[in-house]
Amino acid sequence: MNLKTWRKSLNKVEQEMALKHFKLSEFDSDVKGSGKNMKRDFLKKLDKARDIAKIPFKITSGFRTPQHNERLRKQGYKASANSSHLKGCAADIYCKDSGARQKIVNGLIMAGFTRIGIADSFIHCDTDKDKNDAIWLY
Ligand SMILES: [Zn+2]
Repeated sequence: MNLKTWRKSLNKVEQEMALKHFKLSEFDSDVKGSGKNMKRDFLKKLDKARDIAKIPFKITSGFRTPQHNERLRKQGYKASANSSHLKGCAADIYCKDSGARQKIVNGLIMAGFTRIGIADSFIHCDTDKDKNDAIWLY
């Protein structure tokens, strides 16, 4: 492979990695730039869900450092001690409207998410393989 072909194939890989609807910074924890710890397969799946839903996804929580997760717990946020957010394979999407909730949940399911949590003000989704498939309420 010559340099030109190599560069071309590298661009292709980058394009395939690129997200259509999200910037990594949207998944930052309290530490700037920590959104880069998000798992790629999770982000691609979320991007697909957003595509299907056809409405904006406002991420209220993406990656979390252990300190950040602990602080959220102390503040009364519905954060579990072994949260999938710590592994970079979870996100909370802001949602207070029943119509938007239908679109988001439908998008998530159509994109292949099998773990979805529904709260009155957000929808959690993750691809944590250490946990059972479920749809739960907070
Ligand atoms: Zn969550």
